[in-house]
Amino acid sequence: MLSYTAGDTDVPLLEETIGANFERVAAQFPLRDALIEAAAAPGGEARRWSYQKLNDDVDRLARALLALGVAKGDRIGIWSPNCAEWTILQYATAKVGAVLVNVNPAYRSHELEFVVKQNGMRTLVTAPTDKNSDYVGMARAALASCPELKELVFLPGDPLLGLRSGVPETGHELTYAELLTRADAVGPPALRERMAQLDPHDPINLQYTSGTTGFPKGATLTHHNILNNGHSIGRLLGYTEHDRVVIPVPFYHCFGMVIGNLNALSFGAATIIPGRGFNPSAALEAVQDFGGTSLYGVPTMFIAELALEDFGSYDLSTLRTGVMAGSLCPIEVMRRVIGEMHMVDVAICYGMTETSPVSTMTRAGDTLEQRTTTVGRTMPHLESRIIDPGSGDVVERGVIGELCTRGYAVMQGYWGQPDKTAEAIDVDGWMHTGDLARMDQDGYVVIEGRIKDMVIRGGENIYPREIEEFLYLHPSIQDVQVIGVPDATYGEELMACIILKPGAAALTAEDVAEYCRGKLAHFKIPRYVDVRESFPMTVSGKVRKIDMRQEAVTRLHL
Ligand code: AMP
Repeated sequence: MLSYTAGDTDVPLLEETIGANFERVAAQFPLRDALIEAAAAPGGEARRWSYQKLNDDVDRLARALLALGVAKGDRIGIWSPNCAEWTILQYATAKVGAVLVNVNPAYRSHELEFVVKQNGMRTLVTAPTDKNSDYVGMARAALASCPELKELVFLPGDPLLGLRSGVPETGHELTYAELLTRADAVGPPALRERMAQLDPHDPINLQYTSGTTGFPKGATLTHHNILNNGHSIGRLLGYTEHDRVVIPVPFYHCFGMVIGNLNALSFGAATIIPGRGFNPSAALEAVQDFGGTSLYGVPTMFIAELALEDFGSYDLSTLRTGVMAGSLCPIEVMRRVIGEMHMVDVAICYGMTETSPVSTMTRAGDTLEQRTTTVGRTMPHLESRIIDPGSGDVVERGVIGELCTRGYAVMQGYWGQPDKTAEAIDVDGWMHTGDLARMDQDGYVVIEGRIKDMVIRGGENIYPREIEEFLYLHPSIQDVQVIGVPDATYGEELMACIILKPGAAALTAEDVAEYCRGKLAHFKIPRYVDVRESFPMTVSGKVRKIDMRQEAVTRLHL
């Protein structure tokens, strides 16, 4: 049997814009919670929006954008950690047909200017400056050097938290509050008229792929792409208006704004923001304080939550489901998430920004085995296949090759880069993921790593994931990443980068080799061991193996 599957098509896709969908849901559930932002400081008050209030606030901001002169298709950037205004802007831009550009909050001036220029952004909504990031200063530098950028909008600060909002200095700068007052100049009919001009297949979102390698490329996504992807995920999670979804993952990434916002808000469910950035205690507190039924995270977030000293003191009994995605989840972590966090129906989602993002997902009825070792089956209305990276032929079930995805969720292309788009999406519409995978007899997909992460040692292809899973069972190891480093004899050698459990005694390369001997083939036993405090990460929670490789090369003079 060949490695090809197609998802169900029994429930039709939504054929509406994000704005129209949101208004429909808000009219159905006006008084239910739509958005809750947990208090940032102890003793503070959470900020809350019912569907009705959120829709009103979205409309006000949308009319203000019309007053600024924002045209359909204009690019509006948001450069901020998670906050309620992020969500409001997401829906306001969708209602006026502006393309929301998610700018990674970890970007610095050089990267910001690259992104602003690459898509000709006209407005940038900027976070307040905090102790780590002078957002306001860097945004001003971009304003000075990028002629197409017309204005900066400064999100509110908070003196208690040390967040300093920009104070407008020129006519090209305004505060968020000032922007909102502009709405008075534009009546609701103008917004109705604009919404009537929008098509679900218009681009509405530009996401620069975090890319663990290379220059960022802007995946161009339509209403149809991301609304349907979010909604399909919620359908498979069994979401209803009674769900309360805790979102500690960044909005700037599709995990937050699609799997989180678009999904939950298309069911009348509540979205809950535990804080600006990820903090394991804040995430669990949000579940406890707001009755979270669903919790999201990349595996390292769940690892950090489970490792909290007071983990046992949080009431997580309201949880029933959630999403884990972004990178492979160690089996042990999955077992604890299901057992100790009550996330009985937790799903593994797999995908990439370019596919809106999710293309395969585990289902509630799946066995523990399927939910710990696979990334599930093809999503509704999509197709998956696995090809031989050399010949391009579809491989037999069980054989490793490159995973490709086709269907409604595949992006329109990389913004302004038709050559890069053609490298990623072939003439038949298949998105080539760059991920190595195999498909079992039942159509479940197992991710074996990135084509680029594959280590070739003395002619043997080694998939680091297999060794990581094995080492994860070691009693002293909290987290582990295996990388390839250059070697004169074998071409590459393996290095295990290890974070120890608190209080565990140090591990040497010999200790690790001893543990592996007789259990792993000799060529899979790491030659080097690097015990470290943390891994270099992208904001979306992916380990930057490329950085660790570079460090190792320098340190070991390879
Ligand atoms: P991004 O575009 O930043 O969302 O990154 C997409 C990449 O993340 C994919 O190509 C995979 O390499 C990886 N990825 C996403 N989800 C999973 C998952 N559930 N398991 C393993 N890798 C994943």
